[in-house]
Amino acid sequence: MTTPRRSPGRPLQFDDTARQQYLTAVTEGATLTEAARTVHLTVQAINKHARTNPSFAAALEVARTHGRKARAERMPHGESRYKHAACHCPICTTAATTARTKRRNRHTHTTPEDTTPDQAPVLQLPHAAAQKGQPLPLARAS
Ligand SMILES: [Zn+2]
Repeated sequence: MTTPRRSPGRPLQFDDTARQQYLTAVTEGATLTEAARTVHLTVQAINKHARTNPSFAAALEVARTHGRKARAERMPHGESRYKHAACHCPICTTAATTARTKRRNRHTHTTPEDTTPDQAPVLQLPHAAAQKGQPLPLARAS
């Protein structure tokens, strides 16, 4: 008498309760790794489950959309929130404007003398000069 072969791998411990717990964590803004940890599973195991369970995959998409929004709302006001969460409140707008102005000034106020490598002093190699009788102006300070 033969016993039926088990499918390879540990059976997934992801019942309705765990699934709901996972989706709640994602909805509240946890990363997929953090949410997987709350139900003691790996992201890979959950991805595999999503591939074989279309209704779970759809619920996960909805949860992820809400989660992104929740994370954006928790982001502190500043340039990052202005850029990534499109927050145009006075704090974010001022921070973004200040940072942009700084970046632009850094580019426009740089003179060619500051950047041209030809302007670096030529170093002479005393050892090579002693051997050939003439200094070799090859080495330049970068
Ligand atoms: Zn803001």
